[in-house]
Amino acid sequence: MQNEYDIIVVGAGPAGSMAARFAAEQGVSVLMLEKDRDVGYPVRCGEAVSKTGVEEFIAPDERWIAAHINKFSLNSPDGSEAVVEFGDAGYVLERRIFDYELAKAAAAAGAEVLTRAYVNGLLIEDGKVCGVKYEYRGEQKELKAKVVIGADGVESRVGRWAGLKTHIHFKDMECCVQVTASNIKIDPGTLYFYFGKDYAPGGYFWIFPKGKETANIGLGISGMVGKKRSSLSYLNNFMERNFPSAPVLTSIAGGVPGTITLEKISAPGIMLAGDAARQVNPLSGGGIASGMIGGSIAGRIAGEAVKMNKPNHILTYDKAWHERLGKRHEVFERIKNGIYNFPDEKFNKIAHSFNKIPHSKRTLGRLFTTALVNQPSLLVDVAKVFII
Ligand SMILES: Cc1cc2nc3c(=O)[nH]c(=O)nc-3n(C[C@H](O)[C@H](O)[C@H](O)COP(=O)(O)OP(=O)(O)OC[C@H]3O[C@@H](n4cnc5c(N)ncnc54)[C@H](O)[C@@H]3O)c2cc1C
Repeated sequence: MQNEYDIIVVGAGPAGSMAARFAAEQGVSVLMLEKDRDVGYPVRCGEAVSKTGVEEFIAPDERWIAAHINKFSLNSPDGSEAVVEFGDAGYVLERRIFDYELAKAAAAAGAEVLTRAYVNGLLIEDGKVCGVKYEYRGEQKELKAKVVIGADGVESRVGRWAGLKTHIHFKDMECCVQVTASNIKIDPGTLYFYFGKDYAPGGYFWIFPKGKETANIGLGISGMVGKKRSSLSYLNNFMERNFPSAPVLTSIAGGVPGTITLEKISAPGIMLAGDAARQVNPLSGGGIASGMIGGSIAGRIAGEAVKMNKPNHILTYDKAWHERLGKRHEVFERIKNGIYNFPDEKFNKIAHSFNKIPHSKRTLGRLFTTALVNQPSLLVDVAKVFII
């Protein structure tokens, strides 16, 4: 190990590995620090992702593809089902392997990786971040860097240490729980979503297939709802009603920041990427692909800044992210706020109306248009995302 690095990345999730890889590809020295013993484990994720989202960065490999997805099934409270087919457009991942492969790609580009390295502070001089403090095998250490990229996930502290405003309102933090269960007989190429107050008020419930008769089953609800009734009790009810004897292989709980990106995601010597920057898609709660995009932009810009010896170049990251996805997430957030709080009757009506549309015209855009037919301002937003 060196005494000093050009760039240090904190956290080896999808955002961190992409940041490390894209920075290393610029020919600068990069170290990625991960607190856990293994990259990619424990997994706290439903693992659903769009094909284009991941294939921008990594060639598909059956070792990390647990299921190929070609349909959405949207289920309303009265039991009506609306199915949208969209060709071979998604995956359910085996993230344990996927995250590992992303870290390997960063290493192949020249980044060093150190696991069991718990970052517990930043080095700051004259208001500029210039390195990290971390604990490694019981020893407290320090390392200098020209740029630190905080990709330390939803519970991120790096941004706060650097003085960035990372506060998230309770209502915007989705409380999620999930089990991975077997003996689940569902279509292996369909992502199932359930809406309504008995499933997941103000959020949604999901069943994502994960190979032969195995599935990730879970839900996310707003922190405000979760305060009154836990997401776990909704999950337990669902399992008792639908899969009472399914063996549960794993159970997890975690938060998803279902909101727009932080106002500021860079400052002298510091950048944030992935969940740490709140780069999750607020409508779906998906943060794998968007975190990879955020990480790749942060890594590239950090590498360029070092190479050009222009420290302030990292401040262009906010705009670059906003143009690539941040702006789109603002629209998604408005759509989310318009949809997720619908009463049950409205979800039922949407499913009924959608099912009257001829099969060949049942697209995701048409579904949102049906949902928002009485909300013209949001319809314009939907058009921007799905049609224009
Ligand atoms: C229940 C649930 C279901 C989800 N389902 C989906 C889904 O189906 N599809 C989807 O796209 N997204 C989903 N998400 C969201 C997705 O998991 C995250 O958006 C994604 O993992 C973000 O990637 P990241 O690299 O920013 O953070 P993470 O993947 O969380 O990685 C952060 C890394 O930083 C490390 N770290 C943290 N602190 C430190 C420290 N101090 N020092 C060193 N290392 C540190 C952590 O150990 C971790 O490895 C789900 C989330 C939850 C909770």
